[in-house]
Amino acid sequence: MSQDPTLSAPPEEIVVRAKRVACDGGGGPLGHPLVYMDMGEDDFVECGYCDRRFVLAHDEGHGDYHSPAPRGSGDGH
Ligand SMILES: [Zn+2]
Repeated sequence: MSQDPTLSAPPEEIVVRAKRVACDGGGGPLGHPLVYMDMGEDDFVECGYCDRRFVLAHDEGHGDYHSPAPRGSGDGH
């Protein structure tokens, strides 16, 4: 409890895995209406309400991430 309340905290950086993110400020006194942002051609986007920075995770190429759905389930529909 020794932090100076007048000192502006640095922007919070949040690592995400999608270029489309939603932010509502986390609720509470710093909350704001839910907004959706798209990074477009960039790999990060800053929320204009709370200055949070959403950064796209760069862990592609690992090859060990789980698949969203199993392939070859034999569905010969
Ligand atoms: Zn925000």
